[in-house]
Amino acid sequence: MSSAQPIVNDEARWERIVGLTGGAADVCRSCGNCTVSCRWGLFESEGPDMWELLQNAQRGPDADPELESALWHCATCASCATVCPQGVQTADLIVGLRTLAYDEGRNPPVLNEIVENLQLDGNPDGVPVSLRRRWAKELEAKPVGSKECCLVYFGSATSFSQRLQRIGRAFACVLDGCDIRFAVFDEEPDSGAVARMLGAEPYLEKLVEGNLDTLHKCGIREIVATSPFDYDVFERIYPKYGDSFRVFHATEFLDQLLQYDRLRFERDPTEKRRVVYHDPCYIGRHHALYDAPRRVLGAMKGLELMEFEESREEAVCCGGGGARTWLEEDPGKGFADERVIEAMKLGAQVIATPCPYCIQTFEESIDKLDAPGIEVRDVVELAAAWWPYAPEEEDQTFGTHGTA
Ligand code: SF4
Ligand code: SF4
Repeated sequence: MSSAQPIVNDEARWERIVGLTGGAADVCRSCGNCTVSCRWGLFESEGPDMWELLQNAQRGPDADPELESALWHCATCASCATVCPQGVQTADLIVGLRTLAYDEGRNPPVLNEIVENLQLDGNPDGVPVSLRRRWAKELEAKPVGSKECCLVYFGSATSFSQRLQRIGRAFACVLDGCDIRFAVFDEEPDSGAVARMLGAEPYLEKLVEGNLDTLHKCGIREIVATSPFDYDVFERIYPKYGDSFRVFHATEFLDQLLQYDRLRFERDPTEKRRVVYHDPCYIGRHHALYDAPRRVLGAMKGLELMEFEESREEAVCCGGGGARTWLEEDPGKGFADERVIEAMKLGAQVIATPCPYCIQTFEESIDKLDAPGIEVRDVVELAAAWWPYAPEEEDQTFGTHGTA
């Protein structure tokens, strides 16, 4: 028997909601801390109220669409989870309620397009798979199945955007320089991270099962993901489908290479670079991976590592999580602008963050704010710039070869 009191007495439905939200529905006590703490309250509307959303979901077809829209507005940043007295995993709660809404056909129409793109082209933007093949070839990595020690997984954002492909090239360059044998998929299948965040569970299942089958056949036991969202889904969701892999985020992997002395940043610039680190929610709050990226940046000579006033578990989200990149025209509105403005006040020259979606939202924000003198770089890009043997093409940090 559930301890919470749903407003509509449909016990079976309530139990389903409890299951979909990983038990969160049963423990939420309607205190409102999540609503008050959510950053959306600062920019436009109040943040989502988890208990109100749970009650609304219990109404089924009579759910209030205006209330339900908060579900799709949420960045699943998990910031409110840090102030929840009941320990509710608020991002999982949101994803659980999105799953219910999607299952019952109450989802934003754009979600259907995204799922169709995932089904037809294997990526949420509907980019032809041939472009993915071309990009994989460019990296000159081994094909999957040739007994490499690890699979490097770049994800759709990095594979298809010219700007973000620089992250993939930078990572491949550093791994090559460290003599790490790695493989990439020539037609990298989608990890399922976007499908999961959008609540498209049937398609998530299809993707995960297909990928597990392929990974088994290829004998892959280690995956290194450059995107925090792919890292999260491989680490947290794949084991629920019956198997687990050793999963690293790219910054964790670089940190290990440093610890084993396989990677050395020998470049010593004459001019100091002021770099502020932004914690992406999906490796930060969701996995407490705070130290490895900072250790990697800290190993770069001449790099002055700065911190935002709110960092680590208190870090402000960029606004692009929770698949908002697809759901909203300006996902970083408010969130990202605030971060960029603070970085400029700190006197930082670079915002470093190991997440392609954070990079996109910050760069959009810099353009919008017309903010000169500040750039956004993945930690992996900075690693390549500090790597003494990087070819000129990879050493494009600050736009000047050899001065990083
Ligand atoms: S802070 Fe936690 S207990 Fe309070 S309303 Fe939000 S989810 Fe429920
Ligand atoms: S997860 Fe983040 S965006 Fe969503 S309600 Fe909580 S604080 Fe707000």
